[in-house]
Amino acid sequence: MTSSQAPLQASLDTISGASKRPALRSLDDALAQLLEQARPLELFESVSTFEADSRILSQDIVSALNVPAFDNTSMDGYAIRSQDVSTASKHEQVSLPVNLRVAAGQIGEQLAPGTAARIFTGAPIPLGADAVIMQEDVELVASATDVAGNGIFGTIQIKNPVPKGQWIRPTADDVAINQLIVQAGTRLNAATLGLIASLGVSQLTVAQKPRVALFSTGDELVMPGDCAPQDLKPGAIFNSNRFFLKVLLEKAGAVVTDLGIVPDNREKTIEALQQAAQQHDLVLTSGGVSVGEEDHIKPAVQSLGQLDLWQISMKPGKPFAYGQIKRSANEFKSNTCHFIGLPGNPVSSFVTFILLVRPFLLALQGAHHVSPQYFQAVANFDWLKPDKRREFLRVKRSENGQLELFPNQSSAVLTSMVWANALLDNPGSQIIRQGDVVRCLDLAGIF
Ligand code: AMP
Ligand code: MG
Repeated sequence: MTSSQAPLQASLDTISGASKRPALRSLDDALAQLLEQARPLELFESVSTFEADSRILSQDIVSALNVPAFDNTSMDGYAIRSQDVSTASKHEQVSLPVNLRVAAGQIGEQLAPGTAARIFTGAPIPLGADAVIMQEDVELVASATDVAGNGIFGTIQIKNPVPKGQWIRPTADDVAINQLIVQAGTRLNAATLGLIASLGVSQLTVAQKPRVALFSTGDELVMPGDCAPQDLKPGAIFNSNRFFLKVLLEKAGAVVTDLGIVPDNREKTIEALQQAAQQHDLVLTSGGVSVGEEDHIKPAVQSLGQLDLWQISMKPGKPFAYGQIKRSANEFKSNTCHFIGLPGNPVSSFVTFILLVRPFLLALQGAHHVSPQYFQAVANFDWLKPDKRREFLRVKRSENGQLELFPNQSSAVLTSMVWANALLDNPGSQIIRQGDVVRCLDLAGIF
């Protein structure tokens, strides 16, 4: 624990019920503290470039070659020497015999002055040529005798001068040899993997996936499939958090062990947390982390280790906890498992995952960029009764760039997350009026 966290722990320890509460932590503080705790696991594995999507790269990729490795044509046409056609005009066309043919994958002979080479996209420019004319821009005068007799493929007639370098993709246009192309800590995606493949790299060293134990808490929860919707007992609800949390965890690079539902019972919660901590890097729970008597997560974590963070000044998502669980009674410092408790309300769970858990998991994998993408947009609504806490409103950016607000901002309404494509990040107590420019978190990159 750092000295800046010590007072928080002290204040947490003095809480003896709902009456005495510590000041809520700001989201920025909470995130900074989480990231400080998320030291990279420093465990690596080698994976095929073909299978490396979304992994965090653990090595620098330096190019062993130029890409392209040779000057080549970007068009089907004719390779020529530009000086041979410098006098070409509509009235005085220049004729060049075509006596070479170079397809992609072949190497042509040297181009003799006053001649042209038939050439196809991707083929190397023959020595001596310095430009390409598109086949659409010349007139081909075929000569059967020449083709049969002299190895000549016809004659082309050119009406315009051609600038040097036309339709030639020069050596190293994309990548230069010895250039640092992708840095360790990069999250791999389709474009990066394509670029890496173009360098001939087929295996990559990436961070091992953090192992995350996931469980849901709550006596009211029923797993979908365990009973038909019409047979659901009064007071019971289906467990939805488990389903989106598993997906979000996997998208953040984790390998998930689903531990099902833990009942609202102190001993059972302690037992489940302790067991889960043995073989995992993070135990993630949802629900039971509030201030009610049925909320057993906080005391359970305190009895198994320590709670460093509890309750954040944000809406939705106030009941959030971070701590550590000892794997064995003696070795606290060196042998602990991270613990994160998310709120039970589905939208709160979802939003705190995006803002806090995802960056945490990416940091465990050594990622450099762990924050979501933000953008600015114009609000097309009024929000006149803001909360004191920093809010994350479910909004949709329409095609004209304006933001619409989902009418029901309850933290229990998952429909809002389905509808939204962004979260409006509204500072505490800030009124929004139609036309105001606001800051939004882009959800597209997360899913
Ligand atoms: P809690 O944080 O346990 O007090 O739960 C807050 C609210 O979220 C309650 O209405 C719970 O029924 C609901 N809730 C808790 N866990 C889940 C879950 N896994 N799926 C859906 N709703 C949940
Ligand atoms: Mg509960």
